[in-house]
Amino acid sequence: MTQDHTRPEVNIGLVGHVDHGKTTLVQALSGSWTDQHSEEMKRGISIRLGYADATFRECTGLEEPERYTVEEECPDGSESEPLRTVSFVDAPGHETLMATMLSGAAIMDGAVLVVSATEDVPQAQTEEHLMALDIIGIDNVVIAQNKVDLVDRDRAVENYEQIQEFVEGTVAEDAPIVPVSAQQEVNLDLLIQAIEEEIPTPDRDPDAPSELFVARSFDTNRPGTTFEDLTGGVIGGSLVRGELSVDDEIEIRPGREVEEGGQTEWQPLSTTVRSLQAGDDQADVATPGGLLGVGTGLDPSLTKGDALAGQVAGEPGTLPPTRHAFEMDVDLLDRIVGEGEVEEISTGEPLMLTVGTATTVGAVTSAREGECEVNLKRPVCAAEGVRIAINRRVGARWRLIGVGTLK
Ligand code: GDP
Ligand code: MG
Repeated sequence: MTQDHTRPEVNIGLVGHVDHGKTTLVQALSGSWTDQHSEEMKRGISIRLGYADATFRECTGLEEPERYTVEEECPDGSESEPLRTVSFVDAPGHETLMATMLSGAAIMDGAVLVVSATEDVPQAQTEEHLMALDIIGIDNVVIAQNKVDLVDRDRAVENYEQIQEFVEGTVAEDAPIVPVSAQQEVNLDLLIQAIEEEIPTPDRDPDAPSELFVARSFDTNRPGTTFEDLTGGVIGGSLVRGELSVDDEIEIRPGREVEEGGQTEWQPLSTTVRSLQAGDDQADVATPGGLLGVGTGLDPSLTKGDALAGQVAGEPGTLPPTRHAFEMDVDLLDRIVGEGEVEEISTGEPLMLTVGTATTVGAVTSAREGECEVNLKRPVCAAEGVRIAINRRVGARWRLIGVGTLK
């Protein structure tokens, strides 16, 4: 296969505390604003995962880091050459939106942790998001020390040292820290260089059966569209293995809940791929990496409003089983950010579990040290060995308390 550097091939999460500049940074690197949801616009925070693609390019006539750019034209008037296209997964930084951040982490190959130079380190979600990266095992991390345009040199240095101290002993211990201004577009070349060096495109097997983690789903029809003009439901997410082609049959699990004779059960959905959108382009074949929009033959009412987010789509007969209950090995954190020590999990308590891109609440049916069994409210499609982020209700919200491994 020839290399096409304009197709997204790696997913990079933007994580960190609210208002530290994640969305602005994505915009500076990709030219698009990821907060598209109108309610998001109003509240100014990313409620759902946003995503945008950026093609990193290089001006071959320039030295490092100046050679790295997202512009097509170089300062000397020559044309830059595409290096790689990345998909940014813009996680919400608000404390109540940890579940969304965690489900986004399932499709991140690496992450940029955005830390504002104007505040002390760490702010709550700076810490909580870094813990989440640790738990999910995302160890290719670049730290963007943002808003350096708003602080003087001494403050920038002090903040830089706080960041260094904060990441000691974590997954980001050796991560480069790049001072930037997302808004003034300062040092973006250095940041691109750091991302190129620290977050490589993972090796993937295109011959494996296809598997797509669904992160979003939509009904793209305008209200009032007549039946014959309706287009099928769209699912968006990341192909984690295999390839998908237009006209492929796919299965989506767990699917939907149907009622038969007073009983409800979950049935997988079957449909065909009608269109593929990778980045800005329509494609006939999609390869692993990056984020993908898949037009399907599904009734759009099934995909409306992220109804299928958290499900898994792929080659029929190859997907992991649908589980209504499972057993997991548990590794608890030492403490909850801002709350203190984590107590053992107890029988009967509700937990919020993030499994792949799915978030589900489970009741603990049995708990021993280091393992527990849960009964899920909504089933998930998951393979043995996957990592599960475990959250406990503390006060009014769910807090990350540890990681599980599905048995
Ligand atoms: P998010 O919540 O992390 O996505 O943060 P946003 O990208 O929405 O940014 C929050 C606010 O900080 C917005 O008003 C931005 O314009 C501002 N901002 C972001 N980056 C910078 C920066 O580098 N310098 C300055 N001065 N303001 C910034
Ligand atoms: Mg944002």
